Formats: sequence, C-alpha cells, structure tokens
Amino acid sequence: MAFNYEKYIRPGKLPHIWCPGCGHGIVMKGLIRAMDTLGLDKNNTAIVSGIGCASRLPGYMDCCTLHTAHGRAAAFATGVKMSKPEMTVFCVGGDGDGVAIGGNHFIHACRRNIDMTYILMNNKIYGMTGGQFSPATPHMAKASTTPYGNPDPSFDIAKLAIGAGATFVARGTAFHANQIDKLIVEAVQHKGMSVVEILDDCPTCFGRRNKYRSVVEMMNHLKEVAVPVKAAEKMTPEQLQGKVLTGVLYKEDKPEYCEEYRKVIERAQGGAK
Ligand code: SF4
Ligand code: MG
Repeated sequence: MAFNYEKYIRPGKLPHIWCPGCGHGIVMKGLIRAMDTLGLDKNNTAIVSGIGCASRLPGYMDCCTLHTAHGRAAAFATGVKMSKPEMTVFCVGGDGDGVAIGGNHFIHACRRNIDMTYILMNNKIYGMTGGQFSPATPHMAKASTTPYGNPDPSFDIAKLAIGAGATFVARGTAFHANQIDKLIVEAVQHKGMSVVEILDDCPTCFGRRNKYRSVVEMMNHLKEVAVPVKAAEKMTPEQLQGKVLTGVLYKEDKPEYCEEYRKVIERAQGGAK
C-alpha cells in the first residue's frame, strides 16, 4: 500500500533536526502511516506533546498540535478530549517526559481510561538535555548523571500502564518499523486509554555511553531482544530472560471517561442526586 506521507507533514518543516540514526523519525513515519490508514481528518486530529526530543514530533505534523510544558502532555490532551470528544487525540513523548516528570499525569490518564492514544518513545534516557538517566534507564547502564552505572531499577512502562488502568497496551520497537503503524491503528480503534510504547534508540546520548558503538548495533539490539507475544507462549522462562515482549500486550473493554463524565453532567442537569 502506498502511503500519503505529505498529507500530514507541515509544509516546509522537513528535514527534521533529530540526530542521524535517532529512532524518532521512524516512529513519526509509523504514526503518519497509521493516520493515513485510518483516513484521519487532520482538522479533527490533535497531537499533544510535552518537552524533549520526542516531543518535537508535533512540530512537523500538519494537524491540530500542542507543544506544551514538560511532562504535561497527558493533562493538556485530557483537556482537549474533554472539550472536543469527537477529536482523535494523540500524546507523543519520551520516557523522561512521560514517566518521570509527567509520571503523575500519565498514570491518571491511564486510570481514567480517557479515549486517547499515548505513543511513548522509550529510548531509556533524557536525550535533549544531555543524557541524564530516566526511570527507564536500565539498571547499571551509564548516563551523564550515572557515569559509573545507574543503581535504580527501571520501570517496565507497559506494565506501569496496565497497572494504572490503561485498557490497551502495546509495545513495538524502532527496528520493527512495519509493526508501528499497525499497533497505532489498533490503539486508535480501541475506545479508551491506549498506550503504545516504542523501544527507541538514542545513539547520541545512550548508545555512545553504553555498549552500542553504532546505530546498527543499537538497532541489532532492539531486533534481538524483541519477542512477539505469540512466539513467547512457546518459550521457557529461561529462554525469555533478557527479552522484551512486543505486540498487543493487554486489551479490555471498560467505560470510557468522557462518556462517564457526560452521564454525570446529564444527571446534574436533570437534578438527580
Ligand atoms: Fe534522538 Fe538522542 Fe539525538 Fe535526541 S539526542 S535527537 S533522542 S539521538
Ligand atoms: Mg528519552
């Protein structure tokens, strides 16, 4: 299928300024393919971000975009969805923005099960500000603020989203580019809070401090650790050591927040107690 990439790109905004080898451009292309597949109306689609390299994404997109305060994307997106429930709403951002500074907003958007799709690009580090460790930095990995190794255990972001109440949770990688749009399509079609974690690569801040000396090595790592959920069913716990499950990890139907809120408004307007 031929995709219309230009339809959703803001004229004159490319080339992007992400570093060579950064995975964010791959994710953006996946998002555009998903939007094109779904035939989304750009005037009825909002993409909201906080701050960080990944949060630059809406600046390249030709639809309704908000580039907001650090970690606050989910809060702004909640406001957009509540005031215009007919809109398709995306949040995009990185691990530092989403689950450190914005962790509180992230878990409560999951808890409410508000109908939006949060694309969280997890490159395991704060890229834009110089490579500080984030809650997704692996144990004992090096960052500018942990030059001798990170003593913190890291979040499993997909499990965090499921535990907080998101009703659709999927994971892909920047290596498996052809899977990204399919996961996003399914996430948008799901009614409720959808989280799509994309394991991404940051050769500039994460790779060069750790054992990945080139973009190819980082991409090969993503290829090697990823195991589709179906394949994992046939593997032993020993075989799954160090692996990361990809695909749709969790899905359930639950009442969606805007609809529940509307019921409260109707009760209030009807004078019900
Ligand atoms: Fe991408 Fe890292 Fe460069 Fe930021 S610093 S643009 S995350 S490679
Ligand atoms: Mg990051």
